[in-house]
Amino acid sequence: MSIKIGVPRGMYFYKYYPFTKAFLTELGAEMVPSPQTNKEILDMGSRYCIDDACLPVKVYHGHVQYLKDKVDYMLIPRLTSVVPREYICPKFGGLPEMVKFSLPELPQIIDVEIDLYKRKSNLIKALYAVGKRFTSNPYLIKRAAAKAAKELNIYENTLLQGCLPGKYMNETDIPVSNNGPLIGIATHPYLLYDSFINMKLLEKLSNKGIKFLLPEMLDKKVIEEKCSVLGKRMFWSSSKDLIGSALYMMDNSKIDGILMLTSFGCGIDSLSIDLIERLGRKTYRKPFMVITLDEHTGDANFNTRLEAFLDLVYRREMM
Ligand code: SF4
Repeated sequence: MSIKIGVPRGMYFYKYYPFTKAFLTELGAEMVPSPQTNKEILDMGSRYCIDDACLPVKVYHGHVQYLKDKVDYMLIPRLTSVVPREYICPKFGGLPEMVKFSLPELPQIIDVEIDLYKRKSNLIKALYAVGKRFTSNPYLIKRAAAKAAKELNIYENTLLQGCLPGKYMNETDIPVSNNGPLIGIATHPYLLYDSFINMKLLEKLSNKGIKFLLPEMLDKKVIEEKCSVLGKRMFWSSSKDLIGSALYMMDNSKIDGILMLTSFGCGIDSLSIDLIERLGRKTYRKPFMVITLDEHTGDANFNTRLEAFLDLVYRREMM
């Protein structure tokens, strides 16, 4: 029987899902993802996590709690840097400790550090550290790492073409509209692709015949180029993606409005969104709205804000 590795469906799950799956499967382990977020998972996360954490971290705790009795190991890597010369949000670095100290009776946690700040090749060391738990054959680990990198490349290119992660994973398929207005949604993947915490945003837009452009549909070079107007190199990957995508969306005349999703308690977004708003007010006159999500967000108040934003988009279209 293969070893079961729990992979909580939160934080960067949707960014690295094919990589993780290919790597573990090639090594003969079984990846066990938690299900899509639901009320039970959100409630567990809110109960066990410290109060002042951001919403995605709370949700992540709920996913770990859901999985903990169903797997042999839990994979919670310590992500320090995923792009050379950039850091990721510090919450990713502290995640293994936060989980260990908040949740009782966990299985063994694989908390290898991923730190590519100085060099990308550090990833290989980290993968060997994980792979050694399943095999003593370094050739097999190398082969699994190559397969994982290939799968990630295919996945990123597929998202770039407009496919959504749910469709790629054969889990959900949201029809993409071809006619209505086009709106840009700038946010982090763990808010965008978690349809429980974002109140089914993509489904709602699609049902209304609205097209959307998402950060994963933009080339990384475009994001870099847009951030170059800031004068200073961005060294936080999370805010670079957010700011670069939002500036592209503001600059692109085909985009009729920009919606930003943020979560209560996110320090990085509070600075990034302020910067985006200032830059936007100076140069562009497009409908722009920020919706803050937390564990108390309900469908009624979310819909009211979304409708208000869409009214602005339709009004602009008629002008
Ligand atoms: S960027 Fe914000 S929302 Fe994301 S993990 Fe960090 S604090 Fe939380």
